[in-house]
Amino acid sequence: MKDLLDEIIEKNRYLINKGKVASYIPALGRANPDQIGVCIADMEGNIFAAGDYKQKFTIQSISKTISLMLAIMDNGAEEVFSKVGMEPTGDAFNSIIKLETILPSKPLNPMINAGAIAVASLIKGEDPESKFDRLLALFRKICHNEDLQVNEEVYLSEKSTGNRNRALAYFMKDVGVIHGEVEGILDIYFKQCSIEVDCIDIAKIGLFLANNGVVLETGERVVEEQVAKTIKTFMVTCGMYNASGEFAINVGIPAKSGVGGGIMAAVPRRMGIGVFSPALDEKGNSIAGYGVLKDLSKELDLSFF
Ligand code: GLU
Repeated sequence: MKDLLDEIIEKNRYLINKGKVASYIPALGRANPDQIGVCIADMEGNIFAAGDYKQKFTIQSISKTISLMLAIMDNGAEEVFSKVGMEPTGDAFNSIIKLETILPSKPLNPMINAGAIAVASLIKGEDPESKFDRLLALFRKICHNEDLQVNEEVYLSEKSTGNRNRALAYFMKDVGVIHGEVEGILDIYFKQCSIEVDCIDIAKIGLFLANNGVVLETGERVVEEQVAKTIKTFMVTCGMYNASGEFAINVGIPAKSGVGGGIMAAVPRRMGIGVFSPALDEKGNSIAGYGVLKDLSKELDLSFF
């Protein structure tokens, strides 16, 4: 397996030059574009990894899968989906347009920024700090890694420049989708996006979902099977931005990508996969990461369609 992973990384390395590191969050622009890493965590407890799999990066949008789990655990699915829809948008992840043009106003799904901000507003706790602490504790449990932390530089960089997200949040407050203090809600969102992970951590998130909500190492059921299935379904329909349909055809695995260059994938009942390479394609997906997943899916027959 290790040889296969090395081979697939080398085969896809050329793609790096065709992509660009995200720079709209200034701290992300400093990533080294030459890196590629991959990790597979399977249901037998094996970890296979290659390339720059130990490199740390911020989880960004991949975090939306875990915040959605917590919001559902806290409020029930019915309440959450009364505020956030279940449909793909066809628009960019940070688009504002459909909040106004589709009535009643509610973000179309929890994987776009507006939806994830609405989800963050539903997490329970005394104040934004304790809400975020509960979320971080869930990340640590699912990744089986007590060392997970926020990258302060990325968090502050996003907080000071994230005016598009601020606009989405204030619009949603105006139309009654979110309640409470907007800056506190955004703080939870900016911090969750800035949690620092490596390929092993995100492969473990994939494994947890592949295992339908049970942490493999401890046997602990953390979320109901139905919640894990809901998250995987969103990954198929909306996980790869506006390339989700094409990705389902080419790769056929539930996956969620983030602008930090990570892609987390869950192969039901088989394995979790984490890939990282910070150069992105024009849709915002890791360009080499996509290539690696495409080859892995073919070589290991992972498509579930
Ligand atoms: N923190 C990023 C933002 O809000 C997340 C975007 C992403 O990874 O898709 O713009």
